[in-house]
Amino acid sequence: MKADIAIIGAGSSGAAAACLLAQKGYQVVLLERRNQENAGARWINDVPPWMFEYAGIEMPEPPEKVVDFAPFVLRTQNGKGRVYIDQRPMWGIDMRLLIKRLHQKAEKLGVTLIDQCQITDVIIKNNRPIQIALKRNDFLGKSQQMTYKANLFVDASGVTQALLRKVPALDAICPQLPPQSYIHASQGVFEIIDRAGAKNYLETLGEQTGTFICFPAIEGGYSTLMLYINPNFDHVDILTGVVNDGHHGTGETLIHTFRKAQAWIGDRILGGSARIPLHRPYNQFVTEGAALIGDAACHVFPAHGSGVGSGMIAARMLTDAISQYDDPGRLEALWQYQARFQKDRGAVHAAYHVFSTMIQSMSEDDVKKLIEKGLMTKENIISSLNQQLPVPGIESILSMLVGSASAPFIAFKFLTQFPKLAAASVLFSYYPDKAEGLSNHSWKMISSLME
Ligand SMILES: Cc1cc2nc3c(=O)[nH]c(=O)nc-3n(C[C@H](O)[C@H](O)[C@H](O)COP(=O)(O)OP(=O)(O)OC[C@H]3O[C@@H](n4cnc5c(N)ncnc54)[C@H](O)[C@@H]3O)c2cc1C
Repeated sequence: MKADIAIIGAGSSGAAAACLLAQKGYQVVLLERRNQENAGARWINDVPPWMFEYAGIEMPEPPEKVVDFAPFVLRTQNGKGRVYIDQRPMWGIDMRLLIKRLHQKAEKLGVTLIDQCQITDVIIKNNRPIQIALKRNDFLGKSQQMTYKANLFVDASGVTQALLRKVPALDAICPQLPPQSYIHASQGVFEIIDRAGAKNYLETLGEQTGTFICFPAIEGGYSTLMLYINPNFDHVDILTGVVNDGHHGTGETLIHTFRKAQAWIGDRILGGSARIPLHRPYNQFVTEGAALIGDAACHVFPAHGSGVGSGMIAARMLTDAISQYDDPGRLEALWQYQARFQKDRGAVHAAYHVFSTMIQSMSEDDVKKLIEKGLMTKENIISSLNQQLPVPGIESILSMLVGSASAPFIAFKFLTQFPKLAAASVLFSYYPDKAEGLSNHSWKMISSLME
């Protein structure tokens, strides 16, 4: 069989790409390892709405949009450090419904969606993938073999990197990340079985329902627990994330420990767990005939492991770039996509990668001090939630100056990252427009200083 473009992975990135590419008239096949109904994230994710608009994906409406802009508080457990934001710039999205909507749209646009299939082989000619072999199990468990030829293969398979590891030219430029470059995250929506208990818990904290309450460094370094009790006290959403460095538990163990201490929390209604790459995008994520998007390319905002918006934006940039060329797999076309992503989003991701690496090296006490001493300011937190570079205003600068005077050691550690942050955004704005630009290695050498 033959298509213009074969996309591996029907999660939010792959499904968005399928829609956008089919809209441009490409014949697209979307290949998914799981059942179609189980593709991609199966929980509630928070996404800044501007990212849908930028990606050209229709804005979610309820019931897909489960939470509007809502209050957010970043606090230490004892409440001595507390930064309150009356409207966090994100919406809560039911990913199951977003992905279903994208699949339905893709199929309406003529995309062929094949689920329950695995890539068994990739045929390479002159360093370029030209055909993939697939094995599909039907509902009776019978296995079926098929092959697909395409001009472009897109790896949107998330952390599995299913195509990437089978295409030597990609494998050579996208190294395996070490375990500590991932976080293990879990999300769950749980029933509230004792409203009085939930009310009491909030009263003890001095917080309100309908507020996202985020405890950073709950186990030191990069380990977070965030909860949201809905205004009717029907359910509580819990999100946890822990760096995968072997010293901490997993997202799931954090949820387990928290639930054990809170008897008012009942059964899980929905949710799931997975690893997320907490790294800036690979320096290169395209080769002749193949491109990566989404988690597969580390298109994840490193401050909080958010990849839904970036994956959709990557899909949009890929579509815009290749539609200018006859051959969608031509390196020149794919390079346009890569350069646009690096200049625009890569800069922001690289800057926050510096920041999240610093947080990973901190103890729980260090992070507490950052909040208590006013070094983590409201403006900085809003920028981070909105996945934008911080532009500190007078209030932030004053708060950081006062904080620095009372906690000079931690302030030094924190504030010395700012020049690196600025350097990262400048460096990425100079990402080479052509493949030859990377051949002298100077850009790569400088970018390695951002690690
Ligand atoms: C608990 C948790 C909470 C999160 N919260 C947020 C949040 O609030 N906001 C946010 O933006 N992000 C969040 N994220 C991250 C977000 O879920 C991911 O960045 C996003 O799902 C990435 O989308 P993707 O399509 O690139 O990859 P995935 O969602 O991983 O989809 C990849 C798809 O490829 C399929 N696949 C894998 N291997 C193969 C193969 N060999 N052949 C065919 N198909 C294959 C998979 O089955 C899957 O359907 C969270 C992640 C977790 C785990």
